Amino acid sequence: MVIHPKIRGFICTNAHPVGCAAHVQQQIDYVKQQPALTDVPKRVLVIGCSTGYGLATRINAAFGAGAQTLGVCFEKEPTEKKTATAGWYNTAAFHEAAKKEGLYAHTINGDAFSNEIKQEVIEKIKQDLGQVDLVVYSLASPKRKDPVTGDLYSSTLKPVGQAYTTKTYNTDKDEVSEITLEPANDDEIQQTIKVMGGEDWELWLAALHHAGVLAPNAKTTAYTYIGKKLTWPIYGHATIGKAKEDLDRAASAMRTRYTDINLEAYVSSLKALVTQASSAIPVMPLYISLIYKVMKEEGTHEGCIEQTHRLLRDALYAENPVLDEAGRLFMNGWETNDQTQAKIEQLWHQVTQDNFHQLADYAGYHSDFLQLFGFGMAGVDYDADVNPIVTW
Ligand code: NAD
Repeated sequence: MVIHPKIRGFICTNAHPVGCAAHVQQQIDYVKQQPALTDVPKRVLVIGCSTGYGLATRINAAFGAGAQTLGVCFEKEPTEKKTATAGWYNTAAFHEAAKKEGLYAHTINGDAFSNEIKQEVIEKIKQDLGQVDLVVYSLASPKRKDPVTGDLYSSTLKPVGQAYTTKTYNTDKDEVSEITLEPANDDEIQQTIKVMGGEDWELWLAALHHAGVLAPNAKTTAYTYIGKKLTWPIYGHATIGKAKEDLDRAASAMRTRYTDINLEAYVSSLKALVTQASSAIPVMPLYISLIYKVMKEEGTHEGCIEQTHRLLRDALYAENPVLDEAGRLFMNGWETNDQTQAKIEQLWHQVTQDNFHQLADYAGYHSDFLQLFGFGMAGVDYDADVNPIVTW
């Protein structure tokens, strides 16, 4: 099969196995060029391990610290006619690279919100690892089925309280325009909290603790985006921000609940980056294109692999990590400091249809977007016939 990108709106509906493998290898190469992550423990569970921040954390733990990694993801496998999702190919490539280095890796593909997958993970930990020292919760999902009631909840990306009119960039039409986002109702807010809030993270830790597979002094972290004034109306103070506030509640509850094993639970505040999850958020492509421009000029631009490398080295396993006012591990200061935000705000006010490609780094955004699906990777022949069937 010859595979070229099929882009529909904010998503690419296919993926390239060789390109995804090259993207994973690029991240592994980065990690190997850094000093080893000597303080990171050796048994790591990553929930949401196949793309974006979760995959990058797994790569850092495995190839930076030599950790055995157990991953959970929800990806579509390939058929003769249809490619797999990118996360499937990424996972296959991760496994191949881990095997070459003699690193233990196991991945369970299924719904992390379900009791069945939690049980499967517990059995696998008992069988292969005994216990885990770190649980990374990096799920981003539009839906969640409640494991007890079977009710299906959907998350929405809407402002809270009042409608919000702002600039946006339509990636399909290459058009800067104004959009008005209507506010969410109470039900939409509550459903978003159900999907993206802390409940499932807590259920995971409760199940792992109950089964005795959390090691003494284990740590857990879930990821959040806090942002600043420009993104608050559509993120921090919006439906997704309400769900993220619930992560703070969950972290604090878990810290007091599992003192018997001295569990440390943190929310980690990360920077805005192009991932499958963030490209679906209205206004984010414009904001991210502008911060890419400013942060590349400032020399502070990072991708998922660099952010999570610093997270493990300078925050999660550091003696005196920088915390924000809510006690989160604070990793997005290079994006949210006043000086950088002032530059972004200035560009935000100036940007129009005519000057968008001069003021913003959309080329950088788009290239990162394509790479998420294994396209636009140097050295990959995209006209070659490739077998879409890849397994691990
Ligand atoms: P992503 O879409 O790249 O990754 C999501 C992961 O979750 C994938 O591995 C996917 O397979 C898995 N997943 C989704 N539903 C699942 C299910 N039901 N069962 C099992 N696995 C499932 O997203 P991302 O941007 O890396 O986001 C990860 C976390 O980081 C999210 O909490 C997100 O809010 C947070 N975050 C993202 C950004 C950003 O700019 N991208 C910034 C800060 C924080």
